Amino acid sequence: MRIAIIGAGPAGLAAAKIISIKNQVVVFEKNSDAGKKLLLTGSGRCNIGNTNNDLSKYHSSNNEFIEKIINDKNLDKVNNFFKEIGLVLKDKNGYLYPYSEKSSSVLSCLKSSLDVDFRFNTNIENIERENDKFIINHETFDKVIITTGGLSYPKTGSSGEGFSLAKEFGHKVINLNPSLMALETSIGLEKEWSGIRCEVNVSSYIDKAKVKEEHGELQFTSYGLSGICIFNLSRDIRLALNEEKECEVKLNFCPWTAHLSNYMEENKDKYLTNICDGFLDYKLTNIILKYLKIKDKKWCELKIDEKNKFIETLTNFKVKIIDTKGYLDAQVTSGGVSLEEINLETMESKLVKNLYFAGEVLDLDGDCGGYNLTISFITGLIAGDNHD
Ligand SMILES: Cc1cc2nc3c(=O)[nH]c(=O)nc-3n(C[C@H](O)[C@H](O)[C@H](O)COP(=O)(O)OP(=O)(O)OC[C@H]3O[C@@H](n4cnc5c(N)ncnc54)[C@H](O)[C@@H]3O)c2cc1C
Repeated sequence: MRIAIIGAGPAGLAAAKIISIKNQVVVFEKNSDAGKKLLLTGSGRCNIGNTNNDLSKYHSSNNEFIEKIINDKNLDKVNNFFKEIGLVLKDKNGYLYPYSEKSSSVLSCLKSSLDVDFRFNTNIENIERENDKFIINHETFDKVIITTGGLSYPKTGSSGEGFSLAKEFGHKVINLNPSLMALETSIGLEKEWSGIRCEVNVSSYIDKAKVKEEHGELQFTSYGLSGICIFNLSRDIRLALNEEKECEVKLNFCPWTAHLSNYMEENKDKYLTNICDGFLDYKLTNIILKYLKIKDKKWCELKIDEKNKFIETLTNFKVKIIDTKGYLDAQVTSGGVSLEEINLETMESKLVKNLYFAGEVLDLDGDCGGYNLTISFITGLIAGDNHD
């Protein structure tokens, strides 16, 4: 059989690797090489998966379908695939990386001994249907697999053509939004806090109701807040902002203690600056004490309301979110080709025989932590199976 794959990202390459054993495969890729986004993942180290695949880490407009894709059988399929292609993994607190901690190792294992015809620098905008065949760039194929990615980070090649192709075949493309991105604030401290990093607990609130809590390194920026813990809150916040709901995050700068006031009492005769410098970046200490107008005081000199405000600020600092970064900076696209119209045992379209979808083009996305590559590999491998 002659099979076309549109897009040489992880989903397309995984599918190609399996299919090409018994079929003639052509991979169309608009870039001059494969895996441009894959090389950027995990800051070049490629967080390729996670040992905790709780379904709450995955998201779709149709959540009931997630377990049909993310399950032990399919996760085993991916692990076996990594072994087959000779990719050795490293487990860092549950986060999986290639042992080399280089995304180039993953790409190299995917490409090695891959017997396909690449058509690089070829942007596919149209697929014709003629009888039972597909015509792409004047070439005829028995089957087509669309693995074009979504709309996020478009400079890597994923700029949404997959969605147009899906729509032309009658597929529903639903709830497209950027996801896993930084948040914009307008609290007035952005210029001062830009560049500071610190470990926090951060919780998101939508219309005053708590939605999610994360722990991790927060990066303060000139436009707002960034870092993986923020990215993991951004999906719900983007959806809520679309509906003009009020969005806020609350920062706990002292996740190391549940009893900050006791700690302050134990140090009551010291200057606040000295106490805070013991657990905060000195620049953040300065900003907070200036904001509270208690810079040159000792804890024992504070009035009761000043003490309460200090504790509240350090453990429950409220920041209104006015916007999120968009597709240009987002790590993934949420929403996509509706899973309702896909046979999840094969990834074949229920509407068009011999047409398949895999990867980020689908209405399935995950948190930071390797979950999005897991989606790409699982769906790519399923789409690559059963073409004998
Ligand atoms: C900066 C960054 C860091 C990330 N880090 C991680 C991480 O550490 N762990 C993790 O799990 N996920 C991470 N992700 C997300 C992950 O990279 C994506 O979810 C994953 O690459 C999606 O794979 P895909 O094969 O579906 O699509 P893509 O990787 O986007 O590949 C699609 C390919 O199709 C090509 N293409 C698109 N349209 C056409 C067309 N019309 N014709 C021909 N070719 C076309 C594109 O050029 C591209 O090469 C990160 C993303 C970014 C942007």
